[in-house]
Amino acid sequence: MLLTNYDDAERFYLQVLSQSEDLELKYKTLVSVVNLYQLKGDFYQAFSYGLQLNDVKYSELPEAVKSSGLMAMALALMDSALYDEAAATLGKADFSEYPDNVRCTALYLQTQIAYRSHIWVRPESQLQDEIRYCYNKQQMLYALLSESALSIYWLSVPQTNKALDVLRNKQSLALSFGYTNLAMIWQATFVNALVQNDELKLASEQAEVLTQLFNKHKETTPLEVATLIYHALVKLNKAAQQPARALDYAEDLFSAYQKTYDKQQSAALAYHAALMQAAQRKQEIDTLSQQANQLQLETALAKAESENQRLYLLVGSVLVLLLAVLVVRSHRVRVKLKERVTYDKLTRVYSRDHFEEVLEAALQQAEKQQQELGFILFDLDHFKSVNDNHGHQTGDWALQQAANAAKECLRKSDAIGRIGGEEFAILLQECNFAQSWALAETVRQAIEALEPEQAGYAFKLTASFGVSSAKNCQYHARKLISDADEALYLAKQAGRNQVMPEEPRELW
Ligand code: GH3
Ligand code: MG
Ligand code: MG
Repeated sequence: MLLTNYDDAERFYLQVLSQSEDLELKYKTLVSVVNLYQLKGDFYQAFSYGLQLNDVKYSELPEAVKSSGLMAMALALMDSALYDEAAATLGKADFSEYPDNVRCTALYLQTQIAYRSHIWVRPESQLQDEIRYCYNKQQMLYALLSESALSIYWLSVPQTNKALDVLRNKQSLALSFGYTNLAMIWQATFVNALVQNDELKLASEQAEVLTQLFNKHKETTPLEVATLIYHALVKLNKAAQQPARALDYAEDLFSAYQKTYDKQQSAALAYHAALMQAAQRKQEIDTLSQQANQLQLETALAKAESENQRLYLLVGSVLVLLLAVLVVRSHRVRVKLKERVTYDKLTRVYSRDHFEEVLEAALQQAEKQQQELGFILFDLDHFKSVNDNHGHQTGDWALQQAANAAKECLRKSDAIGRIGGEEFAILLQECNFAQSWALAETVRQAIEALEPEQAGYAFKLTASFGVSSAKNCQYHARKLISDADEALYLAKQAGRNQVMPEEPRELW
């Protein structure tokens, strides 16, 4: 999903810039901000942020990351007709080392600078090699745009035939590519070339195709493209002895030039203003650093900001997707954390803390309604020897087996928790002492019935049980637990693998 709303995008980017401490993320965000302001036509902001790309703190970033910054800056400079600066910026990197799309975008910028200003970031022959490379790598759009740019240059030299060769050969490719601006640039250049070669008949036919396209897309045609089109039409009508039409188009051409010139002038002014502002900012920082180390200041500032609200965002087209991922992930983290405090990791029964909460709540509820509530404590017998003789992992396995066996004896409304190493507690809703005793006996038998031999372990697993009931303890948790604990101790004393106190008679 693309951020199509400038204001939303702007807000997101600036938020990332102020809240992120990740240098690479910040750099990429700066690049997006530069592009954004350029698209909006706010060159002052574009350059203000663009100049920050030169900050020393970014100097250690990978070249491939920094290439995007060079390109954003070069594009803005080119649009401001600051071709020397644009060429110098592009000259800072060897784009042949980068992915094909980056490499071919750079080629496009280089050819643009060449045709507009006759400044060559790289020699013409190298640019032509590069165009071939980009065709081969299926980077068609940039290859075609670059070739049309070189053709415009050739027409101005003039090397008309060289331009015509290219324009004729790849015309159908350029027109069918599906990018209207490219199609119009191509046609305008082609018409221009045909007129220059005295092929007036073919030129008017091709101009027909061009004007049809242009009339359909006039509203959205960039100024630069419109200028090329008017220029071709003036030239054609002049050569075809149509002075009235030539004059009309000349007026359009003049107005387009004027607008372009105005835009370039104000953009160039903005660049110089941003340069001055950056210089001033640097001076301020220098002054500050006399009082304190700037790095310290910056980290302190960044830390304070990130403590307010930690927010990591990724920029560009994946932003919204990423946000969704973050939301889901933080939800998952919360669920996981909650799970971690609620359940014992090994046995998946309640943790001690959570069990105590549940017990407390259940006791209150039972007291209010004067209901029965049973409580069982059990502890595995001679468990130390299981660990000692068979290893800790076997011990873990046995703990899981015992917990599962107990769980299977319970109803939904009951609760079981691990409250010590090999000690568990069970809470039984609406159970009197006798019923709780019976349940303890059931669990005892279930544990005794486990067959570790079948899993390859040669030992017998048993547990001793202590039972208490809420009514007998006046619904006091501490008494409930200590009664059961005493009973459990008695069960151990009496030879283990049994339930204490003695079997209640009233049940039978
Ligand atoms: P008794 O019948 O008197 O209860 O003897 P016991 O050996 O079961 O009791 P003791 O308290 O001496 O030993 C308990 C053992 O339980 C010691 C400890 O290593 C083991 N244990 C506690 N938690 C874990 C665990 O998470 N995993 C494993 N494998 N062993 C554990
Ligand atoms: Mg034990
Ligand atoms: Mg124990």
